[in-house]
Amino acid sequence: MENVLVTGGAGFIGSHFVKRILAAENVARVTVLDALTYAGHIETLGAAFLSPRLAFVHGNILDAQLVDDLMARHSMVVHFAAESHVDRSFAAASTFLSTNVTGTHTLLDAAMRHGTQRFVHVSTDEVYGPLVEGTATEESPLRPSVPYAASKAASDLIALSYFHTYGLPVCVTRSSNNYGPHQHPEKVIPRFITRLQSGEPVTIHGRGEHTRNWLHVEDNCAGIDAVLRGGTPGEVYNLGGGTDLTTRELTDHLLQICGKTWDAVTYIPDRPANDVRYSIDSSKAAAQLGYRPERRLEDGLAETADWYRRNPDRWAPLMRSPDPGGVLTASGGR
Ligand code: NAD
Repeated sequence: MENVLVTGGAGFIGSHFVKRILAAENVARVTVLDALTYAGHIETLGAAFLSPRLAFVHGNILDAQLVDDLMARHSMVVHFAAESHVDRSFAAASTFLSTNVTGTHTLLDAAMRHGTQRFVHVSTDEVYGPLVEGTATEESPLRPSVPYAASKAASDLIALSYFHTYGLPVCVTRSSNNYGPHQHPEKVIPRFITRLQSGEPVTIHGRGEHTRNWLHVEDNCAGIDAVLRGGTPGEVYNLGGGTDLTTRELTDHLLQICGKTWDAVTYIPDRPANDVRYSIDSSKAAAQLGYRPERRLEDGLAETADWYRRNPDRWAPLMRSPDPGGVLTASGGR
């Protein structure tokens, strides 16, 4: 039976993952380590927060003593904690570097000392940077173009260096853009849904031709779980959703789901460093781990919109989060 330490487990993806592994037969205890930044809320854990098999530690991954104490009592680590919003990284890159790079290193160092059996570092397809054509495989060069992606690329390389240097059994997952219930309304899908449901307009940067691959959060968690159980140490696994959409195509889906027309949309000049296209090849995870995203985009978006409609008490207070660079008041972005 395993004791699993989940960092960032009160955030969007981490909370879904915690609920998933609490149901696993071979997991004895799950400890969530989360600093509860503007992006973390224990409410996202729902009933899981009350489980006798869950321990919640309010703390920072940069706290080396705390991390060392926790690592001594856990055989597996799944590391989600990060500053995750690209637009915020334009205004506050130093926080991204300290949490995403130094914080990851703090965890790795403790894991190495305590002989952790498995360390899954959760990363992003944004480390590959923009692709004009084709898809990124795990062998593709890392060409991040924004501070968020650069900080994640740095953390990926440090994580893999702990495998090569010390033999720490690290795996890295790189997923595409996630969506689903409990995502912070600063991200594009919940922001568009909540604005459209409130009768407010949404704005699209540039001509709306930026392309992203959309993955339901539960499919990402299933992929991360597969990597935790069966990934080969030292390997990277892309986890894509199989649905590439331009911002215009995504907006069209959301307008239909929310019963609105293109009259609700205005266009604004593109922002700097808005990567034109991401696309990843997940065939390695499919072949080696049986990874298969199951959620149809139309179903996942409709279910997500329904969750935001039914739970204004969960997302409306988040609109009062600290807002460097006006990321909550602008309505494009990702
Ligand atoms: P999120 O912003 O919703 O959650 C991040 C969590 O980390 C929050 O609970 C926050 O309180 C916690 N945290 C932040 N700094 C911390 C610190 N110093 N110490 C301890 N806890 C801290 O993020 P998310 O969207 O759930 O993303 C989770 C991970 O997945 C991140 O590593 C992100 O880079 C990666 N990822 C996200 C997406 C996506 O579309 N959301 C896509 C690919 C990869």
